Amino acid sequence: MDSFALNIIVILFGLCIGSFLNVCIYRIPLSKSIAFPGSECCNCSSTIHFYDNIPILSFIWLKGKCRKCGHKISLRYPMIEIITSLIFLSVFLNFGFHLESIIYLIFLSSLIIIIFIDIDHQIIPDVITLPGIIFFFCTSFFTTSITFIQSLSGIIAGGGSLYIVAWTYYFFTKKEGMGGGDIKLLAMIGAFIGWKGVIFTIFTASFTGTIAGILIILIKGQSFKDKIPFGPFLSIGAITYIFFGTKLTSLYLNFMR
Ligand SMILES: [Zn+2]
Repeated sequence: MDSFALNIIVILFGLCIGSFLNVCIYRIPLSKSIAFPGSECCNCSSTIHFYDNIPILSFIWLKGKCRKCGHKISLRYPMIEIITSLIFLSVFLNFGFHLESIIYLIFLSSLIIIIFIDIDHQIIPDVITLPGIIFFFCTSFFTTSITFIQSLSGIIAGGGSLYIVAWTYYFFTKKEGMGGGDIKLLAMIGAFIGWKGVIFTIFTASFTGTIAGILIILIKGQSFKDKIPFGPFLSIGAITYIFFGTKLTSLYLNFMR
């Protein structure tokens, strides 16, 4: 098969997985099964038939509305499908077509779910991070990108460092600033990308999180007191590390010299 056809297959595969991630993002926080029943409208609960459930195409075909009740379907659904598909394509273009790339897909898919659940509900579900820590530690025995020692030190660095930050914050303010969910998420990230990746992730997440915080206050005004979820920034930090980590780190070190 030529590489063009292969890329198209990866894009279509990514769109389908993206559609499944939408289901996970909607159902996991509600403690609903992600397998049964099949897709249904979140407004009228009518079953969505397979022909109305084709990534992107159905959204365009149905003009972004439920066929039965006309309830508006959020533009976020096709957006997440496109994001997933682009990330899948980037994995195969960067790391090639082998089994190890599948582990990248699983890791990145978990992060996509976590980003949007955290935005919607300000929680990071344990059902993803806890099995994730164990799963990515186990895969480190078989992968070439990381050794199990690096994975273990990543778990300790990730879980430990955020725990210290959270504890210090609590000690001085008696308020919980960072959720336990963030700690487990960073431990999962550490299991997959090691302790160097954890440092990069914390650095990137704090930097982008601060900028986002300032922008939100500028746009919404000083009255904005809601907590900004940190999970999306940690996830974006880890994604950045996977694709640009080595380049950005050497750029930064050169700059400091
Ligand atoms: Zn409906």
